[in-house]
Amino acid sequence: MLDYEKAFQTAVSAVKSEGRYRVFADLERIAGRFPQARYHDGKADPKEVTVWCSNDYLGMGQHPDVAEAMKTAIDQVGVGAGGTRNIAGTTHYHVRLEKELADLHNKEAALLFTSGYVGNEATLSTLGKLLPDCITLSDELNHASMIHGIRGGKGPKLIWRHNDLAHLESLLKDLPADKPKVIAFESVYSMDGDIAPIGKICDLAEKYNAFTYLDEVHGVGLYGKKGGGVAQRDGVEHRVDVIEGTLGKAFGVMGGYIAGSSALIDAVRSYASSFIFTTALSPVLVAGALESVRTLKKGEDLRARHQERAARMKSVLSEAGFPVMPSVSHIVPVFVGDPVACKAVSDRLLKDHSIYVQPINYPTVPRGTERLRFTPTPLHTDAHIEQLVEALDVVWTDLQLKRAAA
Ligand SMILES: *Cc1c(COP(=O)(O)O)cnc(C)c1O
Repeated sequence: MLDYEKAFQTAVSAVKSEGRYRVFADLERIAGRFPQARYHDGKADPKEVTVWCSNDYLGMGQHPDVAEAMKTAIDQVGVGAGGTRNIAGTTHYHVRLEKELADLHNKEAALLFTSGYVGNEATLSTLGKLLPDCITLSDELNHASMIHGIRGGKGPKLIWRHNDLAHLESLLKDLPADKPKVIAFESVYSMDGDIAPIGKICDLAEKYNAFTYLDEVHGVGLYGKKGGGVAQRDGVEHRVDVIEGTLGKAFGVMGGYIAGSSALIDAVRSYASSFIFTTALSPVLVAGALESVRTLKKGEDLRARHQERAARMKSVLSEAGFPVMPSVSHIVPVFVGDPVACKAVSDRLLKDHSIYVQPINYPTVPRGTERLRFTPTPLHTDAHIEQLVEALDVVWTDLQLKRAAA
């Protein structure tokens, strides 16, 4: 007899036995009081907690102008797009946001997707199909959505060691000069907080006539003069063929996009299944994203404050002896190295100190590198940081976790 329920339970037991069963924190974010939220533990009354792991990096998800733009959109056009982009679902908001995003990255055109995940999957799989005999060179730490897209392209894939230019070049050198090659990578790797040498990767792409695909999901809104990302900060965005981003992290809303040449955008628009056969993003979300992108184009002060907060967090935590992992970005990872301990720290912080930071375990990061990943925002004050350090100190001692070598 086939026992379907049993199969599901066995699969989940395996995850549980490794200590990496995922429990979602049931939160109500409190508008106007970022980063505070009400936490429901399913038993007692909800209690107020400080959120330390949100990807709403600048609090734009509660920005009054963004909220207002969304309310106005509801009043003007209602809540849903009412169709796919091709069949009645392209609203004037979509058209305006695509123009705004092209301008954000100084590209000819842009294309919206229902999420950043879908943007990566749709674009990389379409590149693989449209470029005959295309070979994709993928950084080993690329996001699951890029891996999914590259697989969908069905062409050969080569994996280069993370941010290792010499390895990338050694692979490129051996490939036939007349075959298309796509180099796929990210700017900020969001679990470690390191940053790719984008300009040097573009040098190699030029030398070997490869096409460059850059996931700037953790860079858009946060880096560069207009918030166009790390490639913009580094002055190399014109050398990157495709920039992919999300509207769900620093921009605080939801949705994904790519920006590139008109020919590329037209091709993806015409061929990508997960762009074509799905209902367009709600115009309400698009209106909010449009306001957020526009606001952050002028967001230099907020970006500077964000970097200052991250730098302060890193120095305060290091001084207190916590094993802060090396990071050159706004991400502040603290090493734990064990899934059970990682979950235990997170549970204790939440239960005893009203601090919420999700444990980051396999498969999000490799086994043995489990960590807490803090994302300080411009709205995390010195008092928040002090409270966190005191709480960590108690929990680290109680659980007898390792401190960094002094
Ligand atoms: C979150 C993430 C995505 C997916 O973006 P969503 O808009 O959340 O679907 C893509 N790439 C990377 C590197 C990410 O971290």
